[in-house]
Amino acid sequence: MMELTGLTRRFDGVPAVSDVTLTVRDDEYLTLLGPSGAGKSTLLRLIAGLERPDSGSIRLNGEDITHRPTHTRGLGFVQQSYALFPHISVFDNVAFGLRNRLVDPVTDETGVKRRVDAMLELVGLSDLGQRMPGQLSGGQKQRVSLARTLVTEPKICLLDEPLGALDANLRERMTVELRRIREALGVTFMHVTGNEAEALAMGDRMIVLDRGRAVMIDAPDTVYARPATVAVAKFLNAYNVLDGKAEIGGFRHGDVLLPLPEGAARAAHYAVRYDLASIEPAGGAPAPGRAAMPAAFIAREFLGSRVVYFLHRPDGGVFEVERHLSRSDPVDHPKDAALTVTWAVDDVLAFDASGRLIETRRLKGAA
Ligand code: ADP
Ligand code: MG
Repeated sequence: MMELTGLTRRFDGVPAVSDVTLTVRDDEYLTLLGPSGAGKSTLLRLIAGLERPDSGSIRLNGEDITHRPTHTRGLGFVQQSYALFPHISVFDNVAFGLRNRLVDPVTDETGVKRRVDAMLELVGLSDLGQRMPGQLSGGQKQRVSLARTLVTEPKICLLDEPLGALDANLRERMTVELRRIREALGVTFMHVTGNEAEALAMGDRMIVLDRGRAVMIDAPDTVYARPATVAVAKFLNAYNVLDGKAEIGGFRHGDVLLPLPEGAARAAHYAVRYDLASIEPAGGAPAPGRAAMPAAFIAREFLGSRVVYFLHRPDGGVFEVERHLSRSDPVDHPKDAALTVTWAVDDVLAFDASGRLIETRRLKGAA
């Protein structure tokens, strides 16, 4: 178990990581989501000991490692660039860490071979041990980089955007692979990504970083259904976020007044998930318990099993509606067609002026 307490790192007075307190459990897959510049890499570098905190502490299994040198922390770090040694074979790249580690290096070649072979098999590179890094594809280099770190049996493995350089196809395969490899070894993964789908799919838990702060630490389904702040809702790329102000009778968003769930009288942001909104013909009154807003059709986009409809809101912003094709056939609308978007008031998330989720009484999943 690793405990970060009040971890802060400033550059020129500006915090890159700000007062981060969290517990990393044994044998878990933790994903860390945040936009570019949120402080993800800095947080990993602090944990790895490549960066010194201005304040706060890091404890690993009860021991304070805040000021211990990197190579004595027993952590693995897979950096964004694979940083393989180009002039030695895949086998020797993986063996390098094992032969040279400070604590308990493996010196007998039979032991090295046994462990490197087992690791190459685990990452699916059994046949490529004698290749040189220059002869590998991006995905294979990624696996070598991972194997080289994991062969040293770290307690926690830090991965900085490990799938960032891979194409979509390979990326999807590697997500499954990473989970399988982690489970086989029982090591904790702390996986940094800027991709919300990746963070949601891979983590047992996820941390959301917003301008250096850990604004949410929870199970992916909770993060998705009940984002703790409006910034988290925006990072997820799954919510229409409307800004405005609660007034008597509802939520004022430009010219439209939308019904609010009970208890949301402080609302300053109003969010509706893409997949919980519907498109209906223009004009009709909303059904009981539903909200409605006029919208003009822009375009639709196929995403394999889903289709996303883009519409113009009355204030000119974009409203998205997502449909799974297993549940409905795609619908055609002429460009600029006047339509209505609707949603259940129970499905609305309201956030206050400081961006925090307001606990309303009738939220979905709360019962
Ligand atoms: P992320 O990995 O989430 O994209 P980083 O941790 O790399 O974000 O950076 C967080 C912030 O800290 C950024 O504003 C970045 O410019 C700044 N930063 C990171 N490293 C340094 C450094 N060595 N010197 C100055 N500023 C830095
Ligand atoms: Mg980074």
